[in-house]
Amino acid sequence: MNIQFSPDDQLFREDVRQWLADNRPREQRPSVADLAACREHDTAWQKTLFDAGWAGIAWPEACGGRGLSLTRQLIWYEEYAAADVPPGGWKSVCFVGLAHAGPTLIACGEDNHKAEHLPKILDGSAVWCQGFSEPGAGSDLASLRTRGEIDGDHLVINGQKLWTSYADVADFQELLVRTDPDAQKHRGITWVVCDMKTPGITIRPIRNMAGESEFCEVFYDDVRIPLSQVIGGLNNGWRTAMSTLSFERGTAFIADQVELEHDVVKMEQLAREVHIGGRAAIAHDEIAERLAGLKAEVIALKAMTYMSISRNSNQDLPGPEGSIVRLFFAKLSQRISHFGMELLGADGLVYQGKHEELVRTYLFRYADTIAAGTEQIQRSIIGERVLGLPKSR
Ligand SMILES: Cc1cc2nc3c(=O)[nH]c(=O)nc-3n(C[C@H](O)[C@H](O)[C@H](O)COP(=O)(O)OP(=O)(O)OC[C@H]3O[C@@H](n4cnc5c(N)ncnc54)[C@H](O)[C@@H]3O)c2cc1C
Repeated sequence: MNIQFSPDDQLFREDVRQWLADNRPREQRPSVADLAACREHDTAWQKTLFDAGWAGIAWPEACGGRGLSLTRQLIWYEEYAAADVPPGGWKSVCFVGLAHAGPTLIACGEDNHKAEHLPKILDGSAVWCQGFSEPGAGSDLASLRTRGEIDGDHLVINGQKLWTSYADVADFQELLVRTDPDAQKHRGITWVVCDMKTPGITIRPIRNMAGESEFCEVFYDDVRIPLSQVIGGLNNGWRTAMSTLSFERGTAFIADQVELEHDVVKMEQLAREVHIGGRAAIAHDEIAERLAGLKAEVIALKAMTYMSISRNSNQDLPGPEGSIVRLFFAKLSQRISHFGMELLGADGLVYQGKHEELVRTYLFRYADTIAAGTEQIQRSIIGERVLGLPKSR
């Protein structure tokens, strides 16, 4: 499997590069300490991208996208990562809508769902969050207990979600609830679109170890959601959720994977700036060797990303192989950040100093082997569903 860039792809790349150079915002994205300002910034930028035809590059035309290939989407990510533009991937509040709620609606939603939600995701006017995890239901998602009881033409939701990224600035949520408590664990679950302004929702931000509050606890107290917002059928939500997770583990992080190449370049610059024992860090053989190793691993990640795009171009849903790339990316991103912190030495202890972005990234990357499925869960998926090994207990 390989990706061949055609002459037309090269022209597309040049168009992207030129447009980004001409149109990139000149102001910095606000600090994540002010999420409302981040939302305003990210959604305005998304609107600019939409107006210029850069939103939904690989989404079907019938769903408001441009209907281009995943290869063209990859080219966009590559040029985006190389340009001096606002953070993309999961650093944007538009991530859930663009990377897995939208693709799930395309795969499992009815035409009315697509017409109602997809345009607002693409033009940045609606921000989405993901209400899957609960206390006691993270890796073992099917243990979720938040209840959805049918009352006329509504579901009435009671319960709690946890670790919901951007819940406090989101308009909609992809919400998983238990609608049939008597059914087997993986059955009786429903995937429903929750309007976050509905009465009965309480949101409490949680501080992470970097001192920021990107994720929240969300409480539901008799929250009424029209049954018309159920996606994929009542009590059939596990199937819809597997579609969401396949996008989350398969294609959602391509932008972040591509960005990692530039992170290593930044580490090389840092190794030239920082001095150890009176010499530039990079002049030390051990440092140079480690840097070379990281560069080689980033090239391996790029090859894996190309392979997965090539594979996903021929199937409707990303397969379990996505977990291989996701895991490799997560571990490598942590090694790169760790290397940067070692270069900084004592300076790495100062959070809001000259190297704030590097320190922040280092702390945040602990999440890479937890969010979207922990390292151990990804290994189990690879073992069981890719390699066909016996199921872990
Ligand atoms: C930054 C961040 C953002 C997040 N955003 C969201 C979000 O927006 N929406 C959302 O719904 N969730 C979100 N999550 C939650 C995330 O999906 C869960 O944290 C993750 O699924 C793990 O669940 P848990 O935290 O309950 O840990 P647990 O499932 O309790 O796991 C604890 C430990 O036990 C291990 N373990 C558990 N079961 C097994 C097993 N069967 N085999 C081997 N090891 C096992 C795990 O690997 C882990 O090391 C986010 C998490 C992070 C860190």
